[in-house]
This record gives sequence, structure tokens and C-alpha cells, in this order.
Amino acid sequence: MQEQIFKHRETQILTVKEMKQDREAIIRAGQIIRQGGLVALPTETVYGLGANALNPDAVKNIFLAKGRPQDNPLIIHIEDASQAERYAKNIPPVYYELCRRFCPGPLTIILPKKDIIPLETSGGLETVAIRIPAHPVARAIIHEAGVPIAAPSANLSGSPSPTTAQHCVHDLWGRVDAIVDAGECSVGVESTVISLAGEKPILLRPGAVTPQMLKEFLPDLMIHEAVTEKLKEGVRADSPGMKYKHYAPKAKITILDADSREFTEYVNSQKKEGLFALCFEEDVPFLQVPYISLGKDETDQAKHLFAALRELDERGAQEVYARCPSKQGVGLAVYNRLIRAAAYQEHTLDGESEA
Ligand code: AMP
Ligand code: MG
Repeated sequence: MQEQIFKHRETQILTVKEMKQDREAIIRAGQIIRQGGLVALPTETVYGLGANALNPDAVKNIFLAKGRPQDNPLIIHIEDASQAERYAKNIPPVYYELCRRFCPGPLTIILPKKDIIPLETSGGLETVAIRIPAHPVARAIIHEAGVPIAAPSANLSGSPSPTTAQHCVHDLWGRVDAIVDAGECSVGVESTVISLAGEKPILLRPGAVTPQMLKEFLPDLMIHEAVTEKLKEGVRADSPGMKYKHYAPKAKITILDADSREFTEYVNSQKKEGLFALCFEEDVPFLQVPYISLGKDETDQAKHLFAALRELDERGAQEVYARCPSKQGVGLAVYNRLIRAAAYQEHTLDGESEA
């Protein structure tokens, strides 16, 4: 059994504003990881909590620092597609086709693992999840470390994923050796996860690489039912992360499937203490309650969702009505995160009916 006590660490902030000028910070981050330490680092999706993926003790510390259940496997981050051959076997040709089109980028591919990947990293599974991040700072740190970097999102388990270094400071100060600050993440939701390790390719988590984009290469791609619904009792969680509580702020969130007029009229009519609207830009002129706007389109909404969930807590929101995102493009990823934050509470407003 793993010791459950987390030992305090001196956390340092390593700022990278400009790659060439701030080279020292990158070298230091790579060194800490190579030596078995923990570093929160930026990627284009969200900040990751990185450690040497080949070092079981370092990986165990990721789980301790986050309070993450040990059966929830980690994604390993590598520099280029061909490096996967060191860590995975039975790699199908479509892996390379997908990498040519989408990598570096926000796509994670699950393959059967080689023995070099410790079971600690794979959460006890015989597969490994591989990603080639696009963020120049993440790429430079992987290069400096000289090892694949296991990195789940750099938040405490259950809380919204971090999209700024300040979010990492809030959750992980004293729990990691360093936090690399390179500003806000551009995508804002975690990578798309697909598995090529089973009989048929399956999408386990939606992200910025959408099912429509993937189907060009994987016409028989299935979408796991847990992407849009609560995992049913007895149904196997093909991705262990599916079964755990996620992204939850303290406030009770209810998603309202409604157009702008229905949404704003309904929310304005509610008289509740600590009420907030989590809305789109077009709703703002009509709202008479405190609100946080996610922006105008799906890309904006993805970028701002997690910061907005944290802000709701900071502003003391108790009850939140969230406008239901469209499920188009990256909107499916926004919806997938929001239904978890809302503990699957969703209602349709159609003019007359009460939510
Ligand atoms: P995070 O590390 O927070 O971005 O979450 C990674 C997600 O990928 C979790 O939902 C994991 O359960 C999932 N995952 C990672 N590795 C595997 C794997 N080998 N098989 C299935 N799911 C995986
Ligand atoms: Mg996570």
C-alpha cells in the first residue's frame, strides 16, 4: 500500500516569457524532472503536473500531490511520433497518419504498452496513453528532461483543471518542486483521448481534435457513451477517469438547454441567494443577475470554462445556471466538462415549461 501522507516541498516559480531569454528556467525544469521531482508546466491544453514517466517513485508522487486515485492512468508526453515505438507495441499505421495530421497538438492516443512503462504510470493497465504537445515550453522541457513526461492536469483531483500558473499555485503550492509560468493556455480543455488498443477505435474524451476531424482517418470511430452521459452502473469505464468526480466548484450548477431569450428570462426570474449565470456573450446585455461570460463561440468557451468555474468559487456563488454549449466542434468537449461540473443536472427550457 502506498503511504498516504504527502510530504511538503519547497515550490519555486520558473517564469518563461521568452524562450531564448528564459532558457535557464527550462533547463532547471528539465533537470528537476530528470532527477525524479515534480514540475507543473504549461501545455496548449491545460497545465500539467509532470514527472519522469519511467520512474515509478516519481510517478507515485504525482498521485500523492494531486490526491488522484492510483488506478487513474497518466498520459505520457513525448517529443515526436516515432518515440512512441520505445513505449508502445503493435502500433497501427493509422497512428502515424493521425500524428502527421494532428501532432504536435491536443490529441492523446492509447496503445498497448511495452514493459518499460511502469504499471504506476499506466494505472495498472497494459496500455499507455501518448501525447505530443505543441506548446514550445512543454516541448523544450521534455527535450531537456530527456525522458517521457507523465503529466495529468496540475490541479487537485476533483477541482477544475488549471489554465494559468496561478491556478497551479492555488492547488499545488508546497506539493511540487516547481511551477513553470508561461501564461494562459490557448485551448483551455484537456486533450482528445482515443484508444487504438481495442478492437475498434473509440473516443474516450472529447477535446479540440473533434470526432468530425478524426473520422476522416478513422471512419469506424465509436464515441464512448460516457462522453455525453453519466456512466451507467455496471458499465466498464474504458478510461478510469470517467468514473471519478470532476471539475466541481462548490456551487450547485444546473445546465439549461435554451436559447438566449429563454435562458436570460428564466435566470432573471429566479430569486435565489448567491445566484450566478454562466453564460455566453450574447446573453450579457439581458442578464439582471451576477454572471460570468464564457465568450462568443465554442473556442472561447473552451478557453474560459475552467477559469470561470474557479471564479464562481472565489465570488461565493451558491447556485449557478449555465447555458448549455452547442455540441459542435470543441463544444462537445465543453459540454463533456460542464455536465461533470454540474453532476449531470441538465434541463431543457422550451418557453412554457418550468426547469
Ligand atoms: P488527465 O491526466 O487529468 O488529463 O486525465 C487523463 C485521462 O486519460 C483520464 O481520464 C485517464 O483515465 C485517461 N487515460 C490515461 N491513460 C489511459 C489508458 N491507458 N487507458 C484508458 N484511459 C487512459
Ligand atoms: Mg485531470
